[in-house]
Amino acid sequence: MTTYDYDLFVIGAGSGGVRAARISSGHGARVAIAEEYRVGGTCVIRGCVPKKLLVYGSHFAEDLVDARRFGWTIGEKGFDWPTLRDNVMAEVDRINGSYTDTLTSHNVELYHDHAELLDAHTIKVGDKTVTADKILIATGARPLVPDLPGAELGITSNEIFHLDRLPKSLAIAGGGYIANEFAGVFHELGVKVTLVNRGDTILRGYDEALRDRLLQISMTKGIKFVFNCNVERFEKIEGGGVRAFVGGDDPIEAEMLLWAIGRRPNIEGLGLEAAGVRLNDKGAIAVDAASHTNVENIWAVGDVTDRIQLTPVAIREGHAFADTVFGNKPWTVDHETVPSAVFSNPPIASVGMTEAQAKTKLGTVKIFTSDFRPMRNVLAGRNERSLYKLVVDSATDVVVGAHMIGPDAPEILQALAIAVKAKLTKAQFDDTVALHPTMAEELVLMR
Ligand code: FAD
Repeated sequence: MTTYDYDLFVIGAGSGGVRAARISSGHGARVAIAEEYRVGGTCVIRGCVPKKLLVYGSHFAEDLVDARRFGWTIGEKGFDWPTLRDNVMAEVDRINGSYTDTLTSHNVELYHDHAELLDAHTIKVGDKTVTADKILIATGARPLVPDLPGAELGITSNEIFHLDRLPKSLAIAGGGYIANEFAGVFHELGVKVTLVNRGDTILRGYDEALRDRLLQISMTKGIKFVFNCNVERFEKIEGGGVRAFVGGDDPIEAEMLLWAIGRRPNIEGLGLEAAGVRLNDKGAIAVDAASHTNVENIWAVGDVTDRIQLTPVAIREGHAFADTVFGNKPWTVDHETVPSAVFSNPPIASVGMTEAQAKTKLGTVKIFTSDFRPMRNVLAGRNERSLYKLVVDSATDVVVGAHMIGPDAPEILQALAIAVKAKLTKAQFDDTVALHPTMAEELVLMR
């Protein structure tokens, strides 16, 4: 019988990899993990966590204005970017440390190095070569930078958290959630933001009514949008900044350019060919429902498989892998009805089918909406309306989708997602007594 150095070797210590390593070790496997950058992965180091802290930090700009209407005297306001940046990075360091401690306390051996498959059981990690019975690839994804002349003048979400100082103006290429989140953050921090999009809309995949509402509110706040924009090349502006040349139109100029046009699976330099691992037509590692690749002893989870690029999904996939392969408790992740949010200003949150998807899939649907100005905004004199929408299957009365834009929408939607996942009916929503005065009570008052 062949003996290997490890029962499991995990490549990538991000959301999916760390969970899989920890649980597999708990099931008795001898586990090692390789990380070429920082333990915690995208979410902890340069994604969800620092992003959300910047969202909190930037929101004070509006809160301080609104506070006056609530009787507060605010002295001279000032904002210091290095203070916010350094405090956010200190929190990132803290979480990075606790992830590393988790691996150590679960007896997972950590290699701080790039890992590459030499064959289906052999891994080159730094200058060492080790073997493993089973391998899990959890290498995540990275920001896409297009192949255009001068594109390297832009930065990506990897760099944005570390800026020495804030630019006066920022052009953000993209229209997805990352583009809209950074647009909200940097606008609130006083940067002139222009969102430049190749398509004619933002947030493809989200319910149209919410996308329109965010666009309208963002424009009212002062964020500029340029749609149907085909950028051909970029050049440095003498004295600082970037100029984007757009087919037929005036060039767009900004002090800084941020690429937020999508994320690509991290598959380069992994040795996938040497191990015989196949990709799908999106360039991601092809897996079945159990995250199993075409190679008998190799699995893959998280963004590198490009199913749903969200942290809780990667974590679940890693957990299901560990329970199934080492815990004798097989289960698979349900990729339906996964809630998601855009931490824009105001935020959007969504679960289940959009109105358009439900009409295509179910035929007849009933739509219930509540379009209201939150109490707090009314007193603050802030003319920003929230919009909640429930999509109901006419045949069964089941609520198949819930979509919200407004303050705290993601916090409210997490609880609402349980009801949608549990396939509760609109009648059951109506049967629930409102909790007054809240914004969330609108969810049980839509008639
Ligand atoms: P990752 O967490 O990316 O981990 C992969 C790890 O593998 C990395 O640490 C990488 O360095 C390492 N690695 C890669 N190749 C190798 C190699 N060959 N050898 C050794 N190590 C290697 N998701 C949410 O759910 N909510 C959010 O609010 C949210 N906000 C985001 C904001 C931003 C700006 C970004 C960029 C992402 C955000 N995401 C969010 C997405 C989320 O971060 C990812 O879905 C999640 O981190 C995926 O986990 P993963 O385990 O697949 O990969």
